[in-house]
Amino acid sequence: MTATIGPSLDEPITTSATFDSLDPANGDVVATHPIHSRDDVDAAVARAREAAQWWGALSFDERAEYLLTWRSVITRRIAQLAEVSHRETGKPHSDAQLEIVLAIDHIAWAAKNAKKILGQQKVKSGLLMANQAAYVEYKPLGVVGVIGPWNYPVFTPCGSIAYALAAGNTVVFKPSEYTPGVGEWLAHTFSEVVGGRPVFQVVTGLGETGNALCLADIDKLAFTGSGRTGKKVMAACATNLTPVIIEAGGKDSLIVDEDADLEKAAEAALWAGMSNAGQTCIGTERVYVHEKVFEPFMAEILEQAKDVRAGSDSGAKIGPITMPSQVGVIRSHVEDAVAKGATVALGGPDAIGERFVQPTILTHVPEDSTEITEETFGPTLAINPVRSMDEAIERTNATAYGLAGAVFSKKRGMEIARQIRSGMTSINSVIAFAGVPALPFGGVGDSGFGRIHGADGLKEFTYAKAITRQKFKPLMMLTAFSRDAKTDSKAMQLITLLHGGKQTLRD
Ligand code: NAD
Repeated sequence: MTATIGPSLDEPITTSATFDSLDPANGDVVATHPIHSRDDVDAAVARAREAAQWWGALSFDERAEYLLTWRSVITRRIAQLAEVSHRETGKPHSDAQLEIVLAIDHIAWAAKNAKKILGQQKVKSGLLMANQAAYVEYKPLGVVGVIGPWNYPVFTPCGSIAYALAAGNTVVFKPSEYTPGVGEWLAHTFSEVVGGRPVFQVVTGLGETGNALCLADIDKLAFTGSGRTGKKVMAACATNLTPVIIEAGGKDSLIVDEDADLEKAAEAALWAGMSNAGQTCIGTERVYVHEKVFEPFMAEILEQAKDVRAGSDSGAKIGPITMPSQVGVIRSHVEDAVAKGATVALGGPDAIGERFVQPTILTHVPEDSTEITEETFGPTLAINPVRSMDEAIERTNATAYGLAGAVFSKKRGMEIARQIRSGMTSINSVIAFAGVPALPFGGVGDSGFGRIHGADGLKEFTYAKAITRQKFKPLMMLTAFSRDAKTDSKAMQLITLLHGGKQTLRD
């Protein structure tokens, strides 16, 4: 579909190469974009490093002003950005808009909270160092490379971009080859706000351009995408000991307890499984329902699913599969489940078209089928009954992924949520954590590591700087060759007094 790069990575890539972004609903060309070469990427990073001198030296308040102005620009032009996203991803315009709404809130939070979280703070220096004042502050790393996916082309990269910028870094962003226009829109509007300074730049292209960014003179690389590519990113970044954040895929479950509000649980499972045509990293792919309420839950979700249809017309609630190759993955998972004995409750193999996949619900799906073990990234749900919540937790955790998930329970929500091995869980709702800017976002296991959003997300793009300042002469001079036996003895007395007793935290 796109232009390919001829030369190998050992040779310079031609800057004249281009690729097309396509409308996934019909294959029409949306726009043509440059394939930026390794030289182009290096040049962008060099410009970013120079701009970092200016941006990094601004006060938190000054940077916040720019970021909040950008936030206002995005808000005022939200329909325009949503249209670019709609054309490139195929998602309904209103879904594209909702995604931008969430991103706007994150940009504002990062701008407003960076000073409090990253600015200089005094910490206790302890009795041994009572003559010292102690401080910690979080300094920008310099230039941050961001590589993004196409499924949430605004919300997902902005979780890295806005937090990295608020922390005082400059950013070079390589958007997905499926959504380059969205990436360009974001970088161009930011550029307008900072008078054209290269604080946040975009480079476009395919995997090779992403690889060039990994190998460039950057100080950290924030990657969001598949685990398969994440491994390549880490390997490339290892060349220069460049630290990485990996936000990869998931196989999240939604657990329904016997006392859950079934109507709400079904509504949530349906939306979290089918919205964005199931192409959501923190979407629901598996549902474990207490056997006592399995039948009424199924009746409820199938009733509600009657209104959900994939298409490109205004009545369709979900759009096409953005990446054509994903259709084959979805088909193989559904066929594997059916071949192993799953029951088709809705849709099924016949619901999988060339560009659109109609909502598919399978039940009694064998736990060893790929529909349960691998990320499907399509509008499918595997719904299985369980005898107890312990079994639901055990099955939920029996995956290499660990991104997010949800629990529907009136009494035991918190107890169940805390036992799920994942970075994020919402109780009696879905993906609520993504809309709370103060909460960290990220996974464990094959879902990656590192955090965006919240205080953790700001600190992710900094290094901690510790400073002590001597306030007065020490009572015991320990750090000099003049230290004598008397001082050693005093030090021993003090440490015995402080730590030699049997006191514990409970005393
Ligand atoms: P992908 O891994 O195919 O591509 C992601 C990005 O990596 C693209 O920009 C691509 O051009 C680039 N890339 C490809 N090869 C590269 C290489 N060798 N070196 C450097 N960069 C390279 O993923 P995708 O299909 O765009 O996105 C879907 C995946 O992203 C799903 O697995 C989804 O779960 C995951 N995702 C995760 C999160 C999260 O926050 N955890 C959020 C959104 C999406």
